[in-house]
Amino acid sequence: MIIKSAEYLISNAEWDKCPKPILPEYAFIGRSNVGKSSLINMLANNEKLAKTSGTPGKTQLINHFIINQAWYLVDLPGYGFAKVSQSQRRRWEQMIENYLRKRENLVNVFVLIDSRHTPQKLDLDFINQLGEWQVPFNLVFTKADKNTQVETSRNVKAFLNRLKEDWEFLPAHFVTSTVKKSGRDAILTFIDEMNAQFRAIA
Ligand code: GDP
Repeated sequence: MIIKSAEYLISNAEWDKCPKPILPEYAFIGRSNVGKSSLINMLANNEKLAKTSGTPGKTQLINHFIINQAWYLVDLPGYGFAKVSQSQRRRWEQMIENYLRKRENLVNVFVLIDSRHTPQKLDLDFINQLGEWQVPFNLVFTKADKNTQVETSRNVKAFLNRLKEDWEFLPAHFVTSTVKKSGRDAILTFIDEMNAQFRAIA
């Protein structure tokens, strides 16, 4: 897919205030600092689209972007930020649950996982929650350049093996680096294919 245009549209605290659900939508989520803004900027070919390294946990809204006037990219606030209060966390959980379960044009959630680490409970819990809610998702391993290829694939394998304990089928996964600009084509091709399916059933 060639990105011809990428624009910020709107930010909302409530799922039902989001843009009309007439285009296929893809949401990106992960723990704070996982590399989500960098990944979104890489996909959109625009270094300034999503704010990189703002105050973690500050952007607590559902952020809509429109790509090629054809699909929505959604930047969701990250989880696992230690400095937010209990009440903020509950607000986040409620907003995210409502959005993920009710947004009718949501085609897929990309869950970002930091490839530098062994499987983390926080990520696994979030993924299992998605499973319970029957929200379609796949995995994007970020910052692949930070380790050697061998270490990265060891962490990816460990994560998938951990998922196999609870899941019959494994989700698709992508390995990315915004420094090396890798993984971009695979993700955009996946979105392209999903967009075609969305149009076919619309
Ligand atoms: P967010 O909080 O999830 O939006 O994460 P950011 O995109 O702001 O990235 C957090 C930090 O990780 C920043 O310092 C980025 O420069 C860095 N980072 C993000 N992606 C990569 C990557 O692929 N490789 C490397 N080496 N650093 C990255």
